[in-house]
Amino acid sequence: MRALQALEDLANERFDAYLALLPGGAPPHRVEFSRRITTSWALIYYRRHLVRLSPYLFLLDPADLPRGTHWRELDATLRHEAVHANLYARRGETGHSAEFHRRLARLGVEANGERDLGPENAAFRFVYACRQCDQRWRRRHPLRGNWSCGACAPGRYDPACRMELREELGAPWARLADRAALVECALAEAQRTPLREPLPTLRA
Ligand SMILES: [Zn+2]
Ligand SMILES: [Zn+2]
Repeated sequence: MRALQALEDLANERFDAYLALLPGGAPPHRVEFSRRITTSWALIYYRRHLVRLSPYLFLLDPADLPRGTHWRELDATLRHEAVHANLYARRGETGHSAEFHRRLARLGVEANGERDLGPENAAFRFVYACRQCDQRWRRRHPLRGNWSCGACAPGRYDPACRMELREELGAPWARLADRAALVECALAEAQRTPLREPLPTLRA
């Protein structure tokens, strides 16, 4: 997908710029979209100086995203990983320490704990729903055995609120082909967004 390639190029430029804004910087890193990143928005490979971004972000609609647009979500991810690269290069640290959050604040992102990292199941393929209340459950793998709704029957199995398969979507990577318009839109937003634009604060 050409737009995804263009967005990747732009992500590399932004990542370099974020490193330059952090005290001590870091060696240059390569940023790429990878179909293998299915359980978070990104993964940093410290020793390889590599950041892999999940393209499955684009399987979610803007309404599902805490920051409201794909570019803002991606930008927050780039800033988060840039701070990881910086702290690893200068101090050998890999966690989300108080210093991590101080440096993230320098890049215009307020500390947000675990929610910084995005939903874990963007690459979902199976959609289940409660027979009783219609609560949805998106999963990457099919359910095995009997499962009922955690809201209707907390802590026990109740066949009256069994989770039933409602939709089986195609492979996540193949489904991205239908999302090209969203990638174009993220690219356009990135191109008109200045580097130092603070990201909106998230509600807890
Ligand atoms: Zn992190
Ligand atoms: Zn239910």
